[in-house]
Amino acid sequence: MLNLVLFGPPGAGKGTQSQKLIEKYQLVHLSTGDILRNEIANGTQLGIEAKKLMDQGLLVPDEVVIGMISNKLDANRDARGFIFDGFPRTVAQAEALDALLLSKDTSISVMIALNVDDQELEKRLLLRGKDSGRPDDANPEIIRKRIEEYNSKTAPVANFYKSQAKFVSINGIGSIDEIFTEITKVADTF
Ligand code: ADP
Repeated sequence: MLNLVLFGPPGAGKGTQSQKLIEKYQLVHLSTGDILRNEIANGTQLGIEAKKLMDQGLLVPDEVVIGMISNKLDANRDARGFIFDGFPRTVAQAEALDALLLSKDTSISVMIALNVDDQELEKRLLLRGKDSGRPDDANPEIIRKRIEEYNSKTAPVANFYKSQAKFVSINGIGSIDEIFTEITKVADTF
């Protein structure tokens, strides 16, 4: 199986690159952000609770997102592989993911990090906020909170995969196709 973790701060381009990767490698896309927004749209209890945190730029609890991913893995037993987008976002989530995959006799192939500086991120998120309608994209203060959550809780996840020699970083600035080519160079080695 090809199991990729796409890593990078909010606005790094994970969603865009995921769409292209799904097509090329026939992978199942697991975006915890998308799953949560879907729960909100459906007005579920989980969605109602998650929205309160997401609208403030805060992470939702580990056990909630780990449960969601576990369900999705079970629902896609025949997949060729997965793209994890926006997950794991804490070291506890990374540890739980390793255990979930191990119980299915598989593992993460590699984490691919998209490198983009903070100034460019803020610019992209404010621009996206104009048409995404996402409440967490609309306000500079909330965007900064998300970047802060990323730096304190999510950035350490890179070390988790570095220690397993499963970490590759690529430049996330350039054209969508240029970045995609760099990602495929890594994915094609598996
Ligand atoms: P972005 O990558 O642009 O920040 P996402 O769509 O991945 O956006 O996530 C939006 C929000 O959903 C996050 O700010 C957070 O509140 C919540 N979220 C998504 N994935 C996770 C996760 N793995 N753990 C905790 N919270 C999450």
